[in-house]
Amino acid sequence: MKTKKHNGIGHTSEVTFWLMTAVAYLFALTVRYYWVGWAEHYPEFFWHGTLMINTNDGYFWGEGARDILAGFHQPHDLSPVTEPLSKLTAWLVRVAPWSLEEVMLWLPAVMGSLIVIPVMLIARELKQEIMGFVAALLAGIAWSYYNRTMVGYYDTDMLTVVWPSLILWAIVRAHLRKEKWMPLAVALLMLLYWNWYPSAAPLNLAFVLAVLLYTLLFERKTLYHYRLLAFMTIALSSAPVWVLVVALSALGIWFWKQRGFKEHLYALGASLLLFAVWGGLEPVWYQVKGYLLREGAQDGLNLHYFAVTKTVREAGRIPFELFANRISGSVGVFALSVVGYVMLAWRYRVMWLALPMVGLGFLALNGGLRFTVYAVPICALGFGYLAVWIAEYVSAFSGQKRRILFYLLIALFVPTALFPNIEHIKAYKVPTVLNREEVTVLDRLRRLAKREDYVLTWWDYGYPVRFYADVKTLIDGGKHSGDVNFPVSYALSRPQVASANMARLDVEFTERAYAKGEEGDYLGRMMRAYKAQDPDRFLARLQDKISLPAKTRDVYYYLPLRMLDIFPTVCAFSNIDLHTGQMRRQPFFIVSDRFKDTPQKLYLGGGIVLNKKNGRIALGQKEIPLASITTVTLDKAGRPRAQTQKLHDGAPLYLIFMRSYGRILLMDRQMFDSAYIQLFVLGRYDPALFEPVIFSPYAAVYKLKR
Ligand code: MG
Repeated sequence: MKTKKHNGIGHTSEVTFWLMTAVAYLFALTVRYYWVGWAEHYPEFFWHGTLMINTNDGYFWGEGARDILAGFHQPHDLSPVTEPLSKLTAWLVRVAPWSLEEVMLWLPAVMGSLIVIPVMLIARELKQEIMGFVAALLAGIAWSYYNRTMVGYYDTDMLTVVWPSLILWAIVRAHLRKEKWMPLAVALLMLLYWNWYPSAAPLNLAFVLAVLLYTLLFERKTLYHYRLLAFMTIALSSAPVWVLVVALSALGIWFWKQRGFKEHLYALGASLLLFAVWGGLEPVWYQVKGYLLREGAQDGLNLHYFAVTKTVREAGRIPFELFANRISGSVGVFALSVVGYVMLAWRYRVMWLALPMVGLGFLALNGGLRFTVYAVPICALGFGYLAVWIAEYVSAFSGQKRRILFYLLIALFVPTALFPNIEHIKAYKVPTVLNREEVTVLDRLRRLAKREDYVLTWWDYGYPVRFYADVKTLIDGGKHSGDVNFPVSYALSRPQVASANMARLDVEFTERAYAKGEEGDYLGRMMRAYKAQDPDRFLARLQDKISLPAKTRDVYYYLPLRMLDIFPTVCAFSNIDLHTGQMRRQPFFIVSDRFKDTPQKLYLGGGIVLNKKNGRIALGQKEIPLASITTVTLDKAGRPRAQTQKLHDGAPLYLIFMRSYGRILLMDRQMFDSAYIQLFVLGRYDPALFEPVIFSPYAAVYKLKR
């Protein structure tokens, strides 16, 4: 690289630096307003006059913040009152004039846009402020980074890339300036990052390994780097806070004086020892313990549940183009960014220390989309460096007008890189998690239900239900393994008697388990209590009256319209052979909203045709008789009124025409008899078991009477 080793044309004054930082921040923030401008036109996205959030998990942190503000919450309601994001949110609501909903909506954009600060700070350490400015403009709005920090994307994602970028800045600065306090700053940033985001540990470890490798390769004789390593190693341990405070203070005092090589090694050794005792060996010890205790953990039932990974899209390889787009907005800019990063690291060796973030980003090629964000700021710096390098190189030929040409070229490169990302942002129109009608139902439920009551619903709605209705739920976005999903899936997909029995059992056994400090495998717990050996025979007993545990609280069913689209998946979790974990026959269930009606025939799409004359359904080559056709209309109160026309006795298929929704459902007997279809779609309930509480076209709520 034949660039001159002076402070180039890309180096600016301190004032310009801060001005550019402010402009980049405001730019990132302004672009994020685009979504608001779009969403504002939809009244159904609003609640209490504020746009609602667009990520399900946000309601989890929101529940924690709400409970912190209230000053209380219920035991075992899973409210995250100790999580940093919930605490930060509650604090902002207290000190600032915004409501909880407003903070949840705007915080991700305000925090996510902060990514421009570490990017600019890193550039300043290299005296390449113009590079930083180009990179900050790009990083702030790059495709995947935008997706996870847009307005309404209220999740810890808002800082999961900002923290490691700050850590990288501190490491770079420590290497270049060797200030006394910098190793402590690096360690504190690592701890803050880990506290914010529990999955931060691997990236922190990668930073330590990168610094270690760098030291061994290039700076073996620089004592300062061993000091840095000692501080960073302590930040890797999961020791209690007081131990960390003592250890970091001790290191600080130890290095207050000039120390020799040996004394640096002692400090590093002590840090490693602390790491080994607290945290370092923990995962290893955990494995050993698990191995030794495995025999005792057997309970003889050995139930095989449905693995959630079967329904989550395989985290497989992604196409290269999508990968590149998500990091830089386009394949071209991505390629230039990679070239630029290599040149950058070539000129400023310390930038090799960004490799942990680049590597994590590149894991996306094999491990799923969500990792790409980590590569965004580094690739943006790479692009910025290449842009400045080319502009500097070309403008060097133009003598007097050098500066003008330089800025002209930069002004040309920047829009080229930003354009595809802005196009993406304009096309990325995400709806809110719930619509106003659904929230209205949950808000009415909040006034009816007590905070200790349970709401039975699918896990997708767990967090929002808890946030708006202030109740407990059985499963949610973080608690949805096969064993806890089984009873809920069973209650939704079986006839009303079995459903009611299972709902009561699941709620009471969940609370009993919590009281013992345990959770999970609730079916196994029920079977042990009822002295049952075979799961199928136990489940058969639920079809009838059985003696249920004493009722400790009320149970409500929340049955939303949007579950119709995922109902087969909901059912899959309990349509399983518990002896082997194998799927049983898939239930038959089809939703059609693009049907065509003619006097003789009804075309449902996909080659499915109802012959109205003989009441038979043509399914490809086969003709199957229809048991009945049920027409459902909603009355003024939004309550379904169902009328059934019987066709062929004992026939396997049932057709439901949801007139008010313009939808036709075709299903087998099990689906037709399921509590969800009977209670929500048809509005038919056994008054001995259920009491209808709220009806709306978007959701129904029933109270369990057992
Ligand atoms: Mg609660």
